[in-house]
Amino acid sequence: MEEIEREIRSKLSGLERRIEVESSRRWAIHKCQRDIEKLRQELANSSHWTCVSPHPTESKRLIPRRGLPSYPKYTLSLETIKALKRPTFNLWQWAPNEMLSCIEYMFHDLGLVHEFSIDGVTLKRWLLSVQGNYRDNPFHNWRHSFCVTQMMHGMIHLCRLQDHLSPTENLILMIAAVCHDLDHPGLDNTYQVNARTDLALRYGNHSPLERHHCAVTLELLSRDETNILSAMEPGASDEIQKGVMELILATDMARHVQIMASFSQCVEIFDFQNLKHLRLLEQVLIKCCDTSNEVRPPQISEPWLDFLLQEYFMQAVREKMEGLPVSPHMDPEKVSKSGSQVVFLTSVLIPMFESLTQIFPQLEATMVHPLRGARDHYRHLEVEEARRLLSSTPSEGTVAV
Ligand SMILES: [Zn+2]
Repeated sequence: MEEIEREIRSKLSGLERRIEVESSRRWAIHKCQRDIEKLRQELANSSHWTCVSPHPTESKRLIPRRGLPSYPKYTLSLETIKALKRPTFNLWQWAPNEMLSCIEYMFHDLGLVHEFSIDGVTLKRWLLSVQGNYRDNPFHNWRHSFCVTQMMHGMIHLCRLQDHLSPTENLILMIAAVCHDLDHPGLDNTYQVNARTDLALRYGNHSPLERHHCAVTLELLSRDETNILSAMEPGASDEIQKGVMELILATDMARHVQIMASFSQCVEIFDFQNLKHLRLLEQVLIKCCDTSNEVRPPQISEPWLDFLLQEYFMQAVREKMEGLPVSPHMDPEKVSKSGSQVVFLTSVLIPMFESLTQIFPQLEATMVHPLRGARDHYRHLEVEEARRLLSSTPSEGTVAV
């Protein structure tokens, strides 16, 4: 209980600080005041709180049992509605509540709310609970979830997936995108295994993070107040949950080579009637969306890279402190921002998106071209960095003695 109070008090002081900083933004002040009021109320009723995670000692994420507040209704402009379907969408200009509204709109736009008789209030509660179960990591946070979901929404429109996949399959893609990193602790699977964390022990070192994201997803769907699948027959709901689990598990990059090898075998003879082909396509789609930052314009993608490196470096510091091995791509003394991006773009992103263009050629211009542009940009930066390094290294003749 003390820990819960500490967490709430820390959130309170954070919000109060935010009010000072954002004094020129009236809407932000208004929202903070409401959030402060809400947190104060929840602090007073803290005995009614419940932990969403099945593993309370590890997860600190909390949601109230009942009476989740609603968020303001935003009316999206026609321009925003169009932009939401494109990879160029500027996701940095949206406040957390506005992102909730945008995702809510996507579920309506894709006809999923109507098709599956999803209750409007339950959808809002579910989205709020999902948002509340993302931690404030530099990278693996609510905005990343939004980013992946917006890209999936764009993919569904660009690739006309509604013509090729069933409504159930489209719903699975969208739920998996929203939930795929739930309660991510900001420390990757390698850390979990090396540090022998509870998660690693619980899941036998096998995709511990992804299995945890699945567990939190199922927990939210098991609660009456956040179960968006409640209007379905149990069999249909089970099928969706199973499909979502498979897609979340596919986001473990340790499985990248295996998934892409299977996909490349079927891509040339791809058949939308073949269920095995479809499952692989859905796995590649969520992998693409999860790693799609470099598809976006540089001014939108670059801050993500900085946040990712920030999260990596925080892990490296912790690993050094705990005497654990440090992954070279996370070690600030070894990692080069441009070099690591060139490797990732060349060996992972470009081949993966190119394989998808064999089924959906329209992705060539909207996604593969920007990826090649990003690779060339980081190659150029890499060369510049090497040049600067060489010119700053004193030659033998100039060493002062
Ligand atoms: Zn992710």
